[in-house]
Amino acid sequence: MSPPVIHSDRCLGRSKSPKTPCSWCAAAAHDVDALRDRAQELFSYVRVEERFNHEQTLEKVAHLKEQVNELKLETVNLKRSVASAREDVAEFKEIFQYLGTHSVPGLHRMFPIALAQRWGAKKFLERISAISWQFYPAELPPV
Ligand SMILES: [Zn+2]
Repeated sequence: MSPPVIHSDRCLGRSKSPKTPCSWCAAAAHDVDALRDRAQELFSYVRVEERFNHEQTLEKVAHLKEQVNELKLETVNLKRSVASAREDVAEFKEIFQYLGTHSVPGLHRMFPIALAQRWGAKKFLERISAISWQFYPAELPPV
């Protein structure tokens, strides 16, 4: 028995006679066989993405979606960290600016207190400006 002759109506290949398929259509039977064999493989043995079945592809998509979401979350966290760091830098610049334009009596004693009391930059600025204002009210207004 001869193999079935497959010929596509949309095929642009040429054959020697109208009853024989072109080489592309002749190879289609082998492609169909290969596809059938692949479809029968246990998907637990398939490791190559190009050979995933539908279920494996869905699992892969779900896994990739999870990774994308993790990356989005990581990006949001990094953006928040950068924003927080920028605020910190701005506060330290403010302290630097303030100390450059104001006299703060006992400034050197403020640092160990700030460290022990765990003041942030904002609180440190509030404290030094309050002291400065107390002793030198005629200077530039405190922050
Ligand atoms: Zn053909």
